[in-house]
Amino acid sequence: MHDVTIVGAGPVGLFLACELGLAGCSVLVLERDAEPRSPWKADPLGNRGLTAASMEAFHRRGLLRPLRTASGVDEAPGDGRGTDLDPPPPPRTARRFAGHFAGMMLDPAAIDDAALPFRLPGPAAQGMMTRLEAVEAVLSERAARLGVRIRRGAPVSAISQDDEGVTVRAGERDYAARWLVGCDGGRSTVRGLAGFAFTGTEPQFTGYVMLATIADPGQLRPGFHLTPTGMYIRAFTEGYVAMLDCDGGAFDRSRQPTREHLQAVLRRISGTDVTLSDIQLASTFTDRAMQATDYRRGRVLLAGDAAHIHSPLGGQGLNLGLGDAMNLGWKLAATVRGDAPDGLLDTYARERLPVGAEVLDWTRAQAVSMRPDPHGQAIQGVLRDLLRTRDGTTYAYQRISGYSHRYDLGGDHPLVGRDVPDLRLEDGTRVGDLMRDGRAVVLDFSAGHALHDSAMGWKSRLRYVAGSARNELGVAAVFVRPDGAVAWVGEHDPGHEDFERAAGRWLGAPDN
Ligand SMILES: Cc1cc2nc3c(=O)[nH]c(=O)nc-3n(C[C@H](O)[C@H](O)[C@H](O)COP(=O)(O)OP(=O)(O)OC[C@H]3O[C@@H](n4cnc5c(N)ncnc54)[C@H](O)[C@@H]3O)c2cc1C
Repeated sequence: MHDVTIVGAGPVGLFLACELGLAGCSVLVLERDAEPRSPWKADPLGNRGLTAASMEAFHRRGLLRPLRTASGVDEAPGDGRGTDLDPPPPPRTARRFAGHFAGMMLDPAAIDDAALPFRLPGPAAQGMMTRLEAVEAVLSERAARLGVRIRRGAPVSAISQDDEGVTVRAGERDYAARWLVGCDGGRSTVRGLAGFAFTGTEPQFTGYVMLATIADPGQLRPGFHLTPTGMYIRAFTEGYVAMLDCDGGAFDRSRQPTREHLQAVLRRISGTDVTLSDIQLASTFTDRAMQATDYRRGRVLLAGDAAHIHSPLGGQGLNLGLGDAMNLGWKLAATVRGDAPDGLLDTYARERLPVGAEVLDWTRAQAVSMRPDPHGQAIQGVLRDLLRTRDGTTYAYQRISGYSHRYDLGGDHPLVGRDVPDLRLEDGTRVGDLMRDGRAVVLDFSAGHALHDSAMGWKSRLRYVAGSARNELGVAAVFVRPDGAVAWVGEHDPGHEDFERAAGRWLGAPDN
């Protein structure tokens, strides 16, 4: 029997598998598709934007450099260009693309960096474009090295659970584990079989993404174009077109869109008489926004698109799912090990449900402001004006980049509940580098190494680092959970009792 079965070897399932494998759990991943490769995961159809929050997650596990290489951002290792430790240019000058709201582009130069005091320059300070195939390849390789078994061509069709564990049927075989996590995407089988409630709102539009031969490409300008009936996006990659048709989600998605249909929609949205002479690949999506009302039922949990679906407007789904996996991994591992404090696993849903709900609302707000009716147009006008202001741009950037996410972990300090800033210590080490083994970290900046003896109580689950930071945040000590969330800040004189209370709350009883 494995400790955990994960259904789905997409990016979220694989990231979670790595987290659990890193913590010493035995993990089996069951994947429906026999073959990991697909044109839907390759350039251009599989291109995805990662936010700085996701980049930090990869950075903290030593996976940023392999991901950058697999994504074609860096050349292969051995190029003499350094490692993850290389500091990139300061944020303002490096930021070239800051995202968009319903096709209205944010001006990177208008972002007020003073409003982002905890995002420090570092290898993960900026988002980047990658491809699903690159993310999955890097994570599959790491998972294999951590002893995770990935069984492909194994579609899960039935599950049953009792007090001891969960049995899963895939193909002709049954697999038993103590826990099951459904990372099987937006049409999740696990979600349905385990009886999760999935609620939300119906779509306003039908989205199309295609690879086509355009007879007269000069008719479509590259970039994002918001029009009175929707939006079209022509990427620089030849033949890639996406469009959103504000049809109330009327297209019947059980059938494949024909060339004639795609051309008619594109002509209407773009206001041109563009001709699509051939369609190589096409798919549809909507802005249906639904979320599981809980992420756990007994021994079954959900993460990623299995837990929440929404439109791809603003590129949020993958980032949201990776955040789920980072939050869940260490909590489930501690539960498997038996050293989790009471209720730790339930904090997964408590913390991640509101984050998911915020993303759903962000995509809903965009869908409404694209509506071709006078109400939608009126809202769009107001938003356009707001996005021309520094505050408006900064607010939107904070939402899109994940910077505004903050867990409610109690405590007054503005850092508590946020991602730990990638502080650089005097010896050049970054906080991200200290987290590669997946343990919690306590950073003690007090001259007398005041927390040393207390921290030793949890030494198998916590890394104690004393020193001073180059980027002063004006705090005496910081306790960082394994997922990178700051769980406690010692402001002046790091008090043992406060620290021990925080460590006990998140790590359970001290080691014997
Ligand atoms: C056009 C488009 C553009 C997007 N752009 C962005 C972007 O820029 N940034 C961003 O953050 N997000 C973006 N997204 C969303 C993002 O792609 C998804 O949120 C992300 O891929 C979800 O990952 P996942 O691992 O949860 O699910 P998936 O990637 O769907 O993986 C689920 C896996 O489970 C497997 N599976 C399914 N059923 C079973 C079963 N019964 N048994 C076994 N295995 C099963 C599937 O084969 C698959 O491998 C975009 C989406 C679209 C459609």
